[in-house]
Order: sequence, then structure tokens, then C-alpha cells
Amino acid sequence: MLVSRLVTGVRGNLAAAFSLLPRDPAITSRGTAWGKAAAAGTGGGGGWQRAEVGTGGMSRGCHNTARFATQAIPAKACVERPVLDVTKAKVDTRTTTVTFSDNTSSAFPFVWLRENCQCSTCFQSDAIARLFLIDDLDVHIQPKEVQVTDGSLRMEWPDGHVSVFTGEWLRRRAFTPDSRAAQRTWCMLEKKLWSSEFEVPRSKYSTVMHNDKALLDWLVVLEKYGVTVVEEAPRRVGAINDFIERLGVLKPTHYGRDYEIVTHVTP
Ligand SMILES: [Zn+2]
Repeated sequence: MLVSRLVTGVRGNLAAAFSLLPRDPAITSRGTAWGKAAAAGTGGGGGWQRAEVGTGGMSRGCHNTARFATQAIPAKACVERPVLDVTKAKVDTRTTTVTFSDNTSSAFPFVWLRENCQCSTCFQSDAIARLFLIDDLDVHIQPKEVQVTDGSLRMEWPDGHVSVFTGEWLRRRAFTPDSRAAQRTWCMLEKKLWSSEFEVPRSKYSTVMHNDKALLDWLVVLEKYGVTVVEEAPRRVGAINDFIERLGVLKPTHYGRDYEIVTHVTP
């Protein structure tokens, strides 16, 4: 049976399709046309199954959102930037405008800074989890004192709580258009748009299943192009689930662990 799966959330923000083509070309006879459609990421008709791969967590920069998708990507995929210091902080009515050592600057709202305090009372860095409760946030908060110390921004709040932000941390989260654009590619691979010459990359099921380097290559291709074809999948029930579990955790749906949809094509 020709089977296609829609995979979502491999990297939290990735929605991509791939198809697994069986070893025996003869069995594609009932769905050759939709097989091409599936390869192009549209799903297509015929008989197909759907399942999802869980993300394993929320997306946040460079941490391991999905076990394979981020840990396997080479370190050079992360955009390296020089360490930046805060050189100046100008306080306005609702924001602190920070100037960095590369002469860029960005305004950060007081409320945002208080909400995102990185001290150990407000933030659990090992778990990348905020401890500070939104209920305790005063949206009209004003700092008692703002200083630049040792290249970092130091904010003291009316209750005496102190927040310190490094230049690097702030610069990565700056609200400027270039910084926001850079954040979208921060630890993510550049996406490749399809052109008329685009040919869907193809891999062999057994190679991806048993060779870690092939799996990495396959994931990189999927991340870049959003679509890939896996060929020569074995003709047995469970082959698709095995493949998905090679990528991550199979996420159950309301219809069960997986389910099959059959579309009867009417001419
Ligand atoms: Zn704090």
C-alpha cells in the first residue's frame, strides 16, 4: 500500500510532508498520481494514513525542542554572534532604550523586562521555565533605578527586586526588525524555496532507519525544503510507525495511535 504521512511539529514550527513509497512499484498502480501529490506535500487522494510526531516541548531558540531535529544539526547551523555589552541605558516613560557595543539600540518595555527577569527566583534556567507568576506582574511597573554595570543592564524595581540582563541576552531579544529576523534563523536552517527546477529529495527507508548520518541528512533536507520522499519502505503494517518513532515520539490523536483514511476516487 502506498502510504503518506503528514508530520507536524518536528521542530515546533515545522509543518512538512513526506511520503513513503513501497518497494514494489506495482502496488502503486492505484495511486500513482496522488503519490506525486503526496511527494509535493499536499497529501493527495487514494489511501493514506496520518500520524503526528510530538515536539517534546515548546520552541525557544536553540534548546532541544525535538530530540533529533535540533541535537543532530551541526553546531555551525547556529548563528554565532560576538558577545555584546550594554554601553548605555536611557529611561523613557515606559521603556529603557539600551545601546549595545555594536552601536545598535533597542527599547525594552519595563513590563517586559520585569516579566522576563532571569534571576534564580524568577526563572529556572535548567528547565528553561519561568517561576515568576503573571499574577504578580504589575503592568504599570516603573523601575526604581536603572544602571549599566559590567556590560549588563541592572534594573531595580520598587519592591527592591533586582534584575540583571546581559547585553548578549538582550540583543538576541531586541525588538528591532533585524534582530527579530535573525531570531527566526537562530539555530534554524535557512529555508529553501521551491523553484520550477526543484526536484523532491529522495532517501531510502532502510538507510534512514539504520544509519544515523543518513537520518541527520534526511532531517536537514526536511528542515530546508519541507518535503522529502522516502522510498522502498517495507510492505508491512507498522513500517510507517517504526519510521516515525525513529524521528521522535508518536503523538496519539483523538482517533487512536494512528488511523487510516481511504478516499474513493470518482472520475
Ligand atoms: Zn527576578
